[in-house]
Amino acid sequence: ISRTKIADLFKNKPFGTQVNVKGWVRTRRGNKQVGFIALNDGSTIKNMQIVIDLQKFDEELLKPITTGACINVNGLLVESQGKGQDAEIQAEEIEIYGTADPLTYPLQKKGHSMEFLREIAHLRPRTNTFGAVFRMRHHMAMAIHTFFHERGFYYFHTPIITASDCEGAGQMFQVTTMNLYDLKKDENGSIIYDNDFFGKQASLTVSGQLEAELAAMAMGAVYTFGPTFRAENSNTPRHLAEFWMIEPEVAFIEIAENMQLAEDFIKYCVRWALDNCKDDLQFLNDMFDKGLIERLQSVLKDEFVRLSYTEGVKILEDAVAKGHKFEFPIYWGADLASEHERYLVEEHFKRPVILTDYPKEIKSFYMKQNDDGKTVRAMDVLFPKIGEIIGGSQREENYDKLYTRAKEMGVPEKDIWWYLDTRRFGTAPHSGFGLGFERLLLFVTGMTNIRDVIPFPRTPKNAEF
Ligand code: ATP
Ligand code: MG
Ligand code: MG
Ligand code: MG
Repeated sequence: ISRTKIADLFKNKPFGTQVNVKGWVRTRRGNKQVGFIALNDGSTIKNMQIVIDLQKFDEELLKPITTGACINVNGLLVESQGKGQDAEIQAEEIEIYGTADPLTYPLQKKGHSMEFLREIAHLRPRTNTFGAVFRMRHHMAMAIHTFFHERGFYYFHTPIITASDCEGAGQMFQVTTMNLYDLKKDENGSIIYDNDFFGKQASLTVSGQLEAELAAMAMGAVYTFGPTFRAENSNTPRHLAEFWMIEPEVAFIEIAENMQLAEDFIKYCVRWALDNCKDDLQFLNDMFDKGLIERLQSVLKDEFVRLSYTEGVKILEDAVAKGHKFEFPIYWGADLASEHERYLVEEHFKRPVILTDYPKEIKSFYMKQNDDGKTVRAMDVLFPKIGEIIGGSQREENYDKLYTRAKEMGVPEKDIWWYLDTRRFGTAPHSGFGLGFERLLLFVTGMTNIRDVIPFPRTPKNAEF
């Protein structure tokens, strides 16, 4: 018989049949007559209990089955008498695939700190917590593709190696070329790198937006979903140097529809999590964040607040006047820090907020300018616990305005001539936004550090594995 996933056994409960399971031992206990193994195969947070009648097995053979070992079990699936679980397997044959020496296997005791687990990122998927988080990561990716597919968006691949710094923030990783087998060296023997991409300057993408825009102006509605790189040389619980971004771009919609799309999109993902990740959510809720499930449900009920940046700043200034202390100063023209964003969401409105019409000086060159000459049609979606989860805007579709703004902000024409072309030929009103995948995951898993929702976090001094 072939392997059945433990999740399916719990779901279908084919009691009284012979089954085969393979997985990793979480714990082992027992007495002289009977042994119990809690086995996990990654398909569910729930462990399958393997019951071993010690009359039938050679003790010596079973000795190496300790926490972390991988085993292959044939046996009979029966209803469990024990509390808290509904099925177990009476073992008939056990084969050991791989042992894990109790003296050196790091995941012995329960309750390791998140910091410690980050140091063993190669093993942490074997813990309950990271099993749950990474299953949810998968489900959220499926939710995203399904949402856009259902709405007739095309999944469009934008390049990872590119010359454009679309955010103008200069947080880029430069691409260098080298031939490992023909390294050029200077007189001291140090390697000389070519600081370019075959003779041209290039870096890793900070956003697929500009390329997605030109796709939208040919295919109507598209989205990208891929790795994004920013040289964030700081340590915050919300920034990674390598993260994944979802960027829809839609022709013929203006800012109001863009906001609605963002709200519908996040709610769709949250509902998907509640529907498809019940056991994992319950685990994370009970283990880390007692308010998690309730918070997810309440986001579905509430309509997001829509508010201008100017009104938002007024609320924050009022709070300061009433004695609320912020670390960073707040005034019209300042970029909001996450403490400001969270104040609006968590203290003032108590639900998600979409802030619009930011001062043009603190936003990128491509955003559509309002008639007041001071603000642009930007929108940031602000979430509890996180702050900014989405940044988006209606894009400037007017060639002259875009050209002039790019020039004012020091974006070289030679870098964006192809982008300007979209406004020269058949321009159209259009809008889009970027959602940080890991920030969405922070929200739906209740984790508090962005390093704990991506398998291999890339942050300063952290690129080993
Ligand atoms: P922040 O203000 O938090 O630095 P940003 O305004 O620089 O974010 P945008 O350029 O608007 O970010 O990118 C769109 C989205 O991508 C953000 O709303 C956020 O969800 C996500 N994001 C941006 N930078 C990072 C990062 N370094 N790590 C993880 N997610 C990020
Ligand atoms: Mg930033
Ligand atoms: Mg921002
Ligand atoms: Mg932003």
